[in-house]
Amino acid sequence: MSFDDGPQPGTMNCYHVCEQLGIKATFFMVGLHAEEKPRKKWIDSIRRQPLFLIANHSYTHAFKNHYQSFYGQPNLALADFMKAHDSLHVPLKIARLPGNDAWALNKRFKGTKQVKPLLYLLDSAVQYMVLGWDVEWKFKAGDKPIQSAQALLLETQKAMTGKENFVKKHTVILAHDRMFRRAEDRDSLYTYLAALKAMPNVVFETLDNYPGVKK
Ligand SMILES: [Zn+2]
Repeated sequence: MSFDDGPQPGTMNCYHVCEQLGIKATFFMVGLHAEEKPRKKWIDSIRRQPLFLIANHSYTHAFKNHYQSFYGQPNLALADFMKAHDSLHVPLKIARLPGNDAWALNKRFKGTKQVKPLLYLLDSAVQYMVLGWDVEWKFKAGDKPIQSAQALLLETQKAMTGKENFVKKHTVILAHDRMFRRAEDRDSLYTYLAALKAMPNVVFETLDNYPGVKK
């Protein structure tokens, strides 16, 4: 399981649900979001829990979602990732690009023309690995989840057996911390993850165990 954009309201619900179920998860965090005081504590909790891994989702979330400017200036974007690396004490060089399902792993690159220069730079200049996702729990206005837990479960099962994943049989699932800040949505996350965990042959791993990731 992977969660993006934390620390944000919702992060600790993700934390508690995964901890209760014993599910390993990777939190792609934004440096800027960690500046407020209580949130630093959340990061420390995640860091101390062996089920979880902190990864890099840039410092400013692509200059606060100014994607054209961010990806158009790959050197500045790289510096932004490095600032997050230092401020969040990211343990391994694993990143996810804001707003983009892009990959840079073992000289295999996947992404739009807009983000490719940054992918190459992260790989060659700082030996960073970039991981996208295979299944997304989408959200609408107010950060409400779009798919029901059941619908997402079907999508996930399809991905696990299909040919579309970046690496077959390995399914990277994306959701955003803030989608689960309300109790009913937190419960929906619990329902989804509990059902997935109960399926035969399903093993949850943090992304440092994804094929091709160097530790
Ligand atoms: Zn994001």
